[in-house]
Amino acid sequence: MRAIQLIEPKKFPELRDIPEPTPGPGQVLLKVTAAGLCHSDIAVMEHYAVANNYPLPMTLGHECVGTIVDAGEGARPLVTMGENVMVYGPGGCGRCRMCSTGYENYCYNAAALNITPPGLGHDGGCAEYMLVDRARYCVPIGDLDPVTAAPLTDAALTPYHALQHSRSKLDANSVAVVIGVGGLGHIAIQLIKHLTPAEVVALDISDEHLSLAKKLGADFCFKSDKDAPGKVKDITHGHGAEVVFDFVGNQATIDLGVQMTRVRGDWNIVGIGGGLANVGFGATPFECQVFSPYWGTRTDLYDVVALAQRGAIKIHTEKYNLDDGVEAYHRLHEGKVMGRAVLVP
Ligand code: NAD
Ligand code: ZN
Ligand code: ZN
Repeated sequence: MRAIQLIEPKKFPELRDIPEPTPGPGQVLLKVTAAGLCHSDIAVMEHYAVANNYPLPMTLGHECVGTIVDAGEGARPLVTMGENVMVYGPGGCGRCRMCSTGYENYCYNAAALNITPPGLGHDGGCAEYMLVDRARYCVPIGDLDPVTAAPLTDAALTPYHALQHSRSKLDANSVAVVIGVGGLGHIAIQLIKHLTPAEVVALDISDEHLSLAKKLGADFCFKSDKDAPGKVKDITHGHGAEVVFDFVGNQATIDLGVQMTRVRGDWNIVGIGGGLANVGFGATPFECQVFSPYWGTRTDLYDVVALAQRGAIKIHTEKYNLDDGVEAYHRLHEGKVMGRAVLVP
């Protein structure tokens, strides 16, 4: 079968022919129908694969949707052949105290047991077939289109999870700032508008991405530059936003984020752009809470699917076949993708 694999760190992946996988005990085999390309894949190429000692070659892709075509011993009674499912990525051991509260994404044992998400430690979904390690990671998508369903598993799940802990701060008098209107950010805007009465300010360096933000319901759209904090202060009576969601996380956006968050506000640093925040008395607004959330829970994913099924989130996608997948990664790297690039093997 064909798969887009990272072969060497610091290089773009390649389209290769590799053997079709067969499911072992507990595993489920999917015929992949869609795989979203996340900016984190660029970080995997640039440094994560080395930092986390990922075994290479490794098939990329952690936003996966497919049809169940086979299952190993133990998994077979738990799934239905022909069912269309998405893959919950950040699964845990299912047994530890953290998993018991539903936060499998923060499993205490995942590292020790080498439990990794597809495409982030073992072969992912940018291929014709993929293995899912546990039947419970297969979440039904019903009649959702696989192409728009794939980004729900991360580009929607991650901002949804971040919004869960900050939602109580977003009432009718509140302002939320979304920095970076890419795969995650364009969905975050819609989630905030749908789930809270707050006004949304979108920031990006690209005019095209800002016009997408406007179309999706952002109340204010500003260039992400040194003047942005002043503009946010102007519309918040000088106080700053109740909640800031940073979907870039480089030093430039972190330096802006702290200036835009108000006293007792929430500052969510979701992007993994390598920036570091200076946090402490005098450095951050009084009683400001700083979050660095990772992905989301399986419950959150079921919620996100329900929202998509009733039309509350519209995923903006660019479709690519496997032959054009590497080119799609180049476009993502160059900031040219609008919404989410999705591979259709
Ligand atoms: P993307 O490439 O689709 O979007 C990034 C957006 O940010 C683009 O619109 C780009 O124009 C904009 N941007 C770039 N520099 C900017 C700046 N200085 N100010 C404002 N906007 C700027 O990326 P994505 O797939 O949406 O991912 C966003 C970030 O979130 C990445 O760092 C990714 O690795 C990370 N991520 C984190 C998690 C998590 O669990 N914490 C999950 C998924 C992705
Ligand atoms: Zn991702
Ligand atoms: Zn666990």
